Amino acid sequence: MRGGWGAHPSLTPPHPPTLRAGPSLSPRGEGFYGARLFATRTVMSHPAPTPMMSQYLGLKAEAQDCLLFYRMGDFFELFMDDARTAAAVLDIALTARGEHEGKPIPMCGVPVHAATVYLQRLIKAGHRVAIAEQVESPAEAKARGGSKALVARAIVRVVTAGTLTEEALLDARADNWCIAIGEVGGSVAIAAADVSTGRFEIVEVAPDAVDAELARLGAAEVVASEASAFEEAATTLRPKLDFDSAAGEARLKRLYGVATLDGFGQFGRASLAAAGGLVAYLEHNAKGTMPFLRPPRIGRAAETMAIDAATRESLELTCTTGGVRKGSLLDAVDRTVTGAGARLLGADLGAPLMDAAAIDARLDLVRLFHDDQAARERLRSTLRALPDIGRALGRLAAGRGGPRDLGQLRDGLDGAWSLGERLDGIDSPPPLLREIAPRLRGHGALIDLLKRALVPSPPIESSDGGYIAAGYDAALDDLRDAGAGGRRAIAALEAEFRTTTGVTALKIRHNGVLGYHVEVPARAADPLMKPESGFTHRQTLAGVVRFNTPALHEVAAKVSQSGAHALAAEAAHLEELTAQALAGREAIAATADALARLDVAAGLAERAAEGAWARPSLVDHACFEIEGGRHPVVEAAVAKSGDRFVANDCNLSESSRLWLVTGPNMGGKSTFLRQNALIAVLAQAGSYVPATKATLGLVDRLFSRVGASDNLARGRSTFMVEMVETAAILAQATPRSFVILDEVGRGTSTYDGLAIAWAVVEAIHEDNRCRCLFATHYHELTRLAERCEALSLHHVRAREWKGELVLLHELADGPADRSYGLAVARLAGMSPATVARAKAVLAKLEAGRAKTGGIAAGLDDLPLFAAAAQIEEVACDVLREDLAKLDIDAMSPRDALDALYRLKALASEG
Ligand code: ATP
Repeated sequence: MRGGWGAHPSLTPPHPPTLRAGPSLSPRGEGFYGARLFATRTVMSHPAPTPMMSQYLGLKAEAQDCLLFYRMGDFFELFMDDARTAAAVLDIALTARGEHEGKPIPMCGVPVHAATVYLQRLIKAGHRVAIAEQVESPAEAKARGGSKALVARAIVRVVTAGTLTEEALLDARADNWCIAIGEVGGSVAIAAADVSTGRFEIVEVAPDAVDAELARLGAAEVVASEASAFEEAATTLRPKLDFDSAAGEARLKRLYGVATLDGFGQFGRASLAAAGGLVAYLEHNAKGTMPFLRPPRIGRAAETMAIDAATRESLELTCTTGGVRKGSLLDAVDRTVTGAGARLLGADLGAPLMDAAAIDARLDLVRLFHDDQAARERLRSTLRALPDIGRALGRLAAGRGGPRDLGQLRDGLDGAWSLGERLDGIDSPPPLLREIAPRLRGHGALIDLLKRALVPSPPIESSDGGYIAAGYDAALDDLRDAGAGGRRAIAALEAEFRTTTGVTALKIRHNGVLGYHVEVPARAADPLMKPESGFTHRQTLAGVVRFNTPALHEVAAKVSQSGAHALAAEAAHLEELTAQALAGREAIAATADALARLDVAAGLAERAAEGAWARPSLVDHACFEIEGGRHPVVEAAVAKSGDRFVANDCNLSESSRLWLVTGPNMGGKSTFLRQNALIAVLAQAGSYVPATKATLGLVDRLFSRVGASDNLARGRSTFMVEMVETAAILAQATPRSFVILDEVGRGTSTYDGLAIAWAVVEAIHEDNRCRCLFATHYHELTRLAERCEALSLHHVRAREWKGELVLLHELADGPADRSYGLAVARLAGMSPATVARAKAVLAKLEAGRAKTGGIAAGLDDLPLFAAAAQIEEVACDVLREDLAKLDIDAMSPRDALDALYRLKALASEG
């Protein structure tokens, strides 16, 4: 029995010592399964630790705050506090073994073969895990230090969220960034590496833009100097020395084997500090096999649209405010068919470009596949079948690859090659295709080699062999033949023994402890027990007895020898093939990028075709002209409930750059604001946009703020936060920026809120002069139109029909004719009595305002909301008032009928 116990509480038997003893590695002489785990002597009250205890504690000290997986045979064991933590997170049995300082030692364990699943859960729960492996066999230990010698163990890897390469531990469709923050003087840089694919980026940022950059990357792990000012709860702190810029420069030169870094671009000192700190951390975790890092790409913040963390969250670009991908813009746009394509699309949407030529290059590629449906479908079906070569390469480079990863490279590169041939046939290819197509066809020799060397579907693990193809190595073929011959000989022996002994149930079996042996049922064992039988007794178990014979021993030795030699030969080939593949790793990574870019373009083309999206035009001046714009996420939701999404235009220009949008709650104001911000993001990411026509000048910074009251429901925001964020917009927005403000000022008292909203609109109009959509319930703000020449008024339309409110979700010019709060309240199911009462209060408020000009004037003489009798009276008042307002002579018969219906409805409410 292998594994299982220790993992599932229900399956956990009491600890029988023999169960855990792996045949090859578990060292019996180590004393774990004797009476005590860490056996104590009785001389002192707290006796000296055993050698194993000392070894464990030494490794644990090295592992610091990581959980320590301590390899014992077929298990990774955890002890003491680590055991308590892991048992709780993994929901596995916590047991105790031996004693330390007079107390039982808590212990739990996970089987090695299933360790990945447990690692995943621990990493998800925010832990880091150091893996201590046995680095010699018990035989080697014995030869070194005698029969009682302890097997040497060492930490071979530290597994952390930001340094994963295993398929099972990663999301195939998301990047996995490990980030380091470097600071020198007043400058700050961020270095980001995804070791699963080798991507490595460095960007210098303003100190107050660190959060924005972290939000863009959505880092799995953040590393900073222990002396850093950017310490956050989840940050891994590393020694200050690791973040020294001079040391960082030396480290990078060593990593890339170069005498100067000039070839990579200009590094500021903060960049060197960040990159150096990151590489130091990766080296520390890798313990010898440094994962794959491509030469760093040095980015400049000005290359991309600046989007701060709050805007990113509010627009739900790559994940929703709930932290999931579903429901985000990315989710609504993503039609990619490969993991690498999905990762690149996420990165593109997270960092819209500022270079019109680069955006157009992307758009040209999208157009190619948009206009040619057949080409698009062919490309997508080819891509769908290709393995993720970027990640396979990452695993191979990190020393965690296996035969299947080489098989994936073979298939992926081969597929890329054929694709390259096909794309070469395209007439007048767009520039981006001309640039990337050659990268698809660069690995002919490697493909041939891997095709010859590997079986069609190589296994994930190399341990059992069988992945090198027949015919690749004659010597290996001979060894395999010998092994097969031996196995045939064993089968022949089995038949022979059955005849000679007369025991038809006799079998030749194999296990790790006895090797090949003869097994017979206990009742038939007696004849074989006799010395003259030629069989030697090895083991009696319940029901069966096991024997050996010289003839079997001889054949078995040959089989296992040729098997071992064959395994060794395969392993040597694996190593050589891996080295061959890694020699071209930069070029392979470039091929992976090219495939991802094609997938993104074809996916966006597919999305555009599906939703009748339009190619945006980018122009030099700060306009924003959208015809028939839609919100891709809301549109999908509305369609699901069987409704139609109403498309709306938006037309901001230098002379009309601020739109004040009013209208009823639920009327579609937020949706309109956001859809335009999303269109800006999509356009600059190089995507078609959900509109019939879109022309815009590049947006340098995008801001989205939602008034506190909207967010309070989610418990995420307060008025203070809203004000801080609004202040940031006023400080940062430029005439090229795009700002959406939704109900700003609503989180405080009416007067304060109106005053703040008023001042903010003025500041945006006069100082920032950016393009801005401002949604508000403060009708008073519409008066600003008289003073601000570039401000125009718009409203989402609604109609009351037969006493019911109908939201049209349609944008129209001018202010809303009235507010519909009470109608919405009724729509929401508020009792007629309460609505009627609110109407009365409103009437009084408005009368008061008319008299004194004050919002709340007129409330003084209003009696308190109280008895039902009063409500009736009030309802009659309302009826009377409505009747009085009717201008019967000016009414059409239809209007009159409508009015009659309304009055009837009002009367029945009372
Ligand atoms: P509030 O002032 O209460 O925040 P709002 O005016 O901002 O409301 P939204 O949140 O934008 O309104 O929209 C409310 C709902 O109306 C949406 O969830 C959606 O179901 C629907 N809706 C919004 N815009 C449209 C549209 N253009 N076409 C169809 N349905 C829409």
